[in-house]
Amino acid sequence: MIAVLQRKVQIEKALRTALENQEFQLYYQPLIQLKTGRIRGFEALIRWNSRELGFVSPLDFIGIAEETGQIVPIGRGGLETACHKAAELRKLYGTNFIISVNVSALQLRNKDFVDYVQKAMEGSGIGPGELEIEITESVFIDSYEEVVVILGRVLALGIQISLDDFGTGYSSLSYLRKLPIDTVKIDKSFITDVIYSVRSKSLLESIILLAQKMQLAVVAEGIEDQKQLEQLIKYNCDYVQGYFFSKPMPSREVNQYYESYLQKNSCS
Ligand code: C2E
Ligand code: CA
Ligand code: CA
Repeated sequence: MIAVLQRKVQIEKALRTALENQEFQLYYQPLIQLKTGRIRGFEALIRWNSRELGFVSPLDFIGIAEETGQIVPIGRGGLETACHKAAELRKLYGTNFIISVNVSALQLRNKDFVDYVQKAMEGSGIGPGELEIEITESVFIDSYEEVVVILGRVLALGIQISLDDFGTGYSSLSYLRKLPIDTVKIDKSFITDVIYSVRSKSLLESIILLAQKMQLAVVAEGIEDQKQLEQLIKYNCDYVQGYFFSKPMPSREVNQYYESYLQKNSCS
């Protein structure tokens, strides 16, 4: 207990100067369209290399940054960087990728959220089709109506919305009926389990079918091996993401990754 609290206090303290010290960096992980092998885009995932604490996992600091409110400026910086990356890739390669950015409840409910998303897009010169935000069901907990209105404004800008960690929340199915979203991202726990039991297989297949029947695109995340991939091909999943294809990588490696993708595809 004491150790956990001490760590939390340390993180809180180190977070105060992390932004001005430029300790954050975005990594990017590709999402692949199963049918074609084409790269749909990249999910931006934040990395923090703290001067005091070394590398700290987002799982350990995002929650604290939400409590202190620092997630708002941190997230804003991340959004701008991600938009610039999409613009850079289009300029270099002439391809539109969708860059997906994780957004937490506090960010979304900040009164300037929609304005600064629009500014980040316009400032970088990307079109709305090149940006997606990823939310989890938890953003709806405190104020469902308010969040639905905000998401409606985001969609009206032409930005896509993906529901992350799908299947792990409480009332997933009733939400799914009403939410303003384009895509569901099936939580990786479903993928990990899929090779072990018939029930897990049926569940995964049914979730994919259900979402597709509702005209939602389906992303499966956390794919680590060939067997898991084979199941997803069998179930006709739309997009896949995971270490099997690539780990999240720093900005410059994204370019190398795409160049080697181009090379492979021009040879075959
Ligand atoms: P998430 O959005 O569900 O992101 C997926 C996590 O799974 C990432 O962890 C990613 O590195 C990891 N992952 C990807 N492929 C595989 C795989 O094949 N196997 C396994 N075991 N893991 C895989 P990461 O980067 O540590 O991020 C953890 C969580 O922190 C994210 O979960 C997201 O909720 C949050 N997060 C990350 N970046 C941001 C950000 O910029 N803003 C906000 N608000 N939250 C963020
Ligand atoms: Ca995510
Ligand atoms: Ca997820």
